[in-house]
Amino acid sequence: MPRHTIRWYGDAATARKARSAVSLHSHTSCSLETLAIVGTWKERGVLIRRLVERAERMRIGSRRSRVDFSDLHFTPPLPPREALEAERGQIERSLDLESFVSLTDHDTFESAEVLHDRFAEVSVPFSTEWTVPFESSYIHLGIHNVPRRAIASLQRRMHRISQGCTECRDRDTVCFGAHRELPEARWRSEALGELLEEISGYGDALTVLNHPAWDLGGIGDAENRRLIGRFLAVHGHAIHAVEVNGLRPWKENSVAISMSEAAGLPIVAGGDRHGCEPAAVLNLSQADCFAGFVLEIRRERRSEIVLMPQYREPLGFRKLQAVWDVLREYPEHSDGKRQWTDRILVRDGSGHFQTLSELWEGARSGPFAIEASRALTMSLERWPLRNAVRLAYATERRMAA
Ligand SMILES: [Zn+2]
Ligand SMILES: [Zn+2]
Repeated sequence: MPRHTIRWYGDAATARKARSAVSLHSHTSCSLETLAIVGTWKERGVLIRRLVERAERMRIGSRRSRVDFSDLHFTPPLPPREALEAERGQIERSLDLESFVSLTDHDTFESAEVLHDRFAEVSVPFSTEWTVPFESSYIHLGIHNVPRRAIASLQRRMHRISQGCTECRDRDTVCFGAHRELPEARWRSEALGELLEEISGYGDALTVLNHPAWDLGGIGDAENRRLIGRFLAVHGHAIHAVEVNGLRPWKENSVAISMSEAAGLPIVAGGDRHGCEPAAVLNLSQADCFAGFVLEIRRERRSEIVLMPQYREPLGFRKLQAVWDVLREYPEHSDGKRQWTDRILVRDGSGHFQTLSELWEGARSGPFAIEASRALTMSLERWPLRNAVRLAYATERRMAA
């Protein structure tokens, strides 16, 4: 049976016996994130509906049609080097341990490639968060530490499996689950099984079922739970652990833990950082390298998870902070993506992406950009208001508890 310990940071014994800490699952500016979900927010109240409808009417480039949020994407603000430093910094400062960081951008190994190519002294595992269509929904898998020589071939086949629907395949883009019509005949389940076994064949690689209780496809919690059960029944032998996620509520993580127990799999912690806040959940380890940590999970089947202080903060507030991290200005951004309009991308009919800055010819020339930037700066940059929002979320959470 797998064994695990979960403790809060601050416990006297937090890191006493550990040698290192591992940050799994975080996103950098190499990740392309869908904004398709924004289109579904209209049901959340009059104010949000008005805002979304206003955004839908805005003019992007020469387009005349309404904005379709499934065509809009954003990239997180931190470039790979800064993302790595944010994770390392937290581990070294707060836990005084050696740090191992696995950056997992959506459907690409680019951040590790960038780091290895640009910074000779950096050594990080080659990892990704892979979007896998399964039945009527989709699943996120953390694929960690595959050999670099295998990436090109793996990436090509992972991409084919991820191209869930015919519409997106014809446009030669990955649909990131924005389209839900995935007829059974197109599951490509066989190809998926083969690929998962091949990855598992690399002894130092780790495949994690990320945030399994999060109903990504909007099929309902009960059906999602059954779907995960079916996924694990078919492919569970090639999955090494189930994730406790630092950006998901504890109620959902508890369900993930019971799923891991039912499947006889260990749990691991994944931060899922999208903004600047480092991982809210970390793994403690006795290992002196990432492969040693993988060995603890895959062979010894034991894990130790620490919940960092930010996990106590209201989740709504932390998400708002991440949104602010995406929208604020970065005068020193090492990839040159200084304004939020440099980090929002629009996909055209032929599947090509352009930033809002390119479409609006200059970061602040679009009327919506000017208005939105001004409103955001005025409201979110003021700490008293941020604290008020934090308090409001905390009160809401206490009342809900
Ligand atoms: Zn995910
Ligand atoms: Zn993620």
